[in-house]
Amino acid sequence: MRNLTADDFSERRKEMVNVQLMCRDIYSEKVIGAFLAVKRELFLPEDSRKYAYEDFPVSIGFGQTISQPYIVALMTQAADVFERAKILEIGSGSGYQSAILEYMGADVYSVERIQGLKELAEQNCRKAGFTKVKFKLGDGSLGWTEHAPYDIVIVTAAAPHIPKKLMIQIKENGRIVIPVGDPAVQDLLLVRKINNNIVEEKICGCRFVPLIGEDAWER
Ligand code: SAM
Repeated sequence: MRNLTADDFSERRKEMVNVQLMCRDIYSEKVIGAFLAVKRELFLPEDSRKYAYEDFPVSIGFGQTISQPYIVALMTQAADVFERAKILEIGSGSGYQSAILEYMGADVYSVERIQGLKELAEQNCRKAGFTKVKFKLGDGSLGWTEHAPYDIVIVTAAAPHIPKKLMIQIKENGRIVIPVGDPAVQDLLLVRKINNNIVEEKICGCRFVPLIGEDAWER
């Protein structure tokens, strides 16, 4: 098969947005704009770039995956990202979700537990022109206290429950988008802190790699 060109990727990107996002339930113009703009092929290993716009998760090494575009879009839409929102992402992985959030004008703090992936996410973001995200190596189940409180927390790995410190580190009227359940299958939740009450809404069923940490699954 011939190598794919920038034009091929651009065509595939538009088709992905039409077929996988807009024909489903992604209606936010800001989200659609970001998915049209960010070059997902730059966040995949060289030999998997041909899958950049396919409707399935792709391996990024270290036993981890980049979620399918639709799930990233759904989480981003549910988070209701706004200009200058302070966002904590747990699970940097390839850096793609961070890049989408930076494109949307958010101030992004991203925590990753695997050194090689933290470095990969940093490199990928830089290569794609996203230079403002702050990355940290650590256990995201404990949040990132230094920069708290956050408007939004997006957890991109499956937790057994909502980690307590994440709940503490969001602002009043803040929200967390997080997959919660057992390791095989989870519910994607939108959790809001309203007048110090916690309001949970189920978005859909999902399957993520496990969140491993002190207030999550054991290794
Ligand atoms: N958001 C990523 C992207 O756009 O490519 C995909 C993330 S992948 C589905 C989940 C990531 O969560 C993995 O990179 C994994 O190493 C990371 N992870 C798991 N437990 C973690 C923890 N306690 N703290 C930080 N990262 C964690």
